[in-house]
Amino acid sequence: MNIKPEEITSIIKGEIERYEKKIQTIDSGTIIQIGDGIARVYGLDECMEGELLEFPRGVYGMALNLEQDNVGCVLLGSEEGIKEGDIVKRTGKIVDVPVGDELIGRVVDSLGEPLDGKGPIKADEMRPIEVQAPGVIDRQSVREPLQTGIKAIDSMVPIGKGQRELIIGDRQTGKTAIALDAIINQKGKDVICIYVAIGQKQSTVAHIVNTLKEMGSMDYTIVVSSTASDTAPLQFIAPYAGCSMGEYFMNKGKDVLIVYDDLSKHAVAYRAMSLLLRRSPGREAYPGDVFYIHSRLLERAAKLSDELGGGSLTALPIIETLAGDITAYIPTNVISITDGQIFLESELFYAGQRPAINAGISVSRVGGNAQIKAMKQVSGTLRLELAQYRELAAFAQFGSDLDKESKNRLEKGKRLTAILNQGQYNPMSVENQIMILYAGVNNHLMDIPVLKMSEFEKEFLEFMNTHHRDIGKGILEKKKLDDELKEKLNSAIDEFKKIFLA
Ligand code: ATP
Ligand code: MG
Repeated sequence: MNIKPEEITSIIKGEIERYEKKIQTIDSGTIIQIGDGIARVYGLDECMEGELLEFPRGVYGMALNLEQDNVGCVLLGSEEGIKEGDIVKRTGKIVDVPVGDELIGRVVDSLGEPLDGKGPIKADEMRPIEVQAPGVIDRQSVREPLQTGIKAIDSMVPIGKGQRELIIGDRQTGKTAIALDAIINQKGKDVICIYVAIGQKQSTVAHIVNTLKEMGSMDYTIVVSSTASDTAPLQFIAPYAGCSMGEYFMNKGKDVLIVYDDLSKHAVAYRAMSLLLRRSPGREAYPGDVFYIHSRLLERAAKLSDELGGGSLTALPIIETLAGDITAYIPTNVISITDGQIFLESELFYAGQRPAINAGISVSRVGGNAQIKAMKQVSGTLRLELAQYRELAAFAQFGSDLDKESKNRLEKGKRLTAILNQGQYNPMSVENQIMILYAGVNNHLMDIPVLKMSEFEKEFLEFMNTHHRDIGKGILEKKKLDDELKEKLNSAIDEFKKIFLA
């Protein structure tokens, strides 16, 4: 075999040339296709999944599909003016958002940029939006109550710090209202709240921010807003961004409440992205990993162990159903991930029951440990009595003759249902809830007309808080109703009833 020196040098020269080219393509690539908010980029050999990429014109993108010869990415901004052949640079970091105290009271977008015109945010640090959830050893069980201030929830589906409780129902059934009341009720309780709006109308978000401001709740709340007019990727990353902002406080030992409103729209945004990235569609055209996008988000809610500071992140995801169908793909997924659900029904809503909670199928799987004993004492039989009442009420519609006991049960059920009715933006302290529920469950209200229940409740609580402050205080201090407190309550209720009925 003849070896020609020229041939060898030319091969070596070629290798050297190609070698240099290869180095160039590691940190930057060229766009080979762009459209619909999706770009395919050639080069970027070392690109990481979820890495932030810098496009021309200050637009950022996120790498999602790492394929053999190109990287599929979504643009986090407008694709206007960006064309094929443009250079894309790696940033070497996963998408991150600013976190810290500075964010409290602010309205920001999915990337942590301010939307409220109050100037730039000087963040303490940056935190990636996707973080591994705390492991088993890092956690402890849920044991402290997170009061929502809503009687029907705190008594029957109690929520604990670190829990994930789903709020599910059709459109316009009061889902957002419950979450907002829960946020408003955290005032003065040293809980930081985060409201993540996903794919909602701008006007709705503005209304929510205004309400929170009026109630003085923006002082401890962050609003992360990705509206329907934002691109699908921005809507997709919003809950992860909000979660990272919350985790910062949780890791500092604080309690955080986060609301994802809502995850149905989040799934839809992810579906749009996935279809454009040409991932194969599965059930209801959602990609196969749609379960995982919600599980990895909700797993990040936790009650940390005492060694890690004992902070907590409580999540209230919201899901919108169609015609009450909870067996659709996304609702079943999220139901199976969360620690319980609060079902809202249009029928109940239109029948005037607000909040329209279906107590029969609403559950909280860990919250029982997270209720103070006094609340457990009054709510113990509440759920059962309401179930019996509903059964009887269906019967009574036929006009059948009922025995005395059934009639009594019906009357009591009507009064309990009336007590559980509660207006919006009107959260109630736990001791007040206990006092009025105590009166209801222990048959003290049987001689008060049902239509007068709300009036009675209002005046009764006023009376208790002016003339018998010690009872409310006693409940909070002892955390349970002992004989002494019960006696005092009984006589106070009798005293007030005399005034009220007179
Ligand atoms: P959407 O599907 O549009 O997000 P939603 O399920 O979040 O709706 P809300 O917007 O919270 O529902 O409430 C729907 C309407 O019901 C609002 O006008 C709200 O003021 C009213 N509402 C909700 N809860 C109560 C309540 N407890 N008492 C009186 N009105 C209520
Ligand atoms: Mg809503």
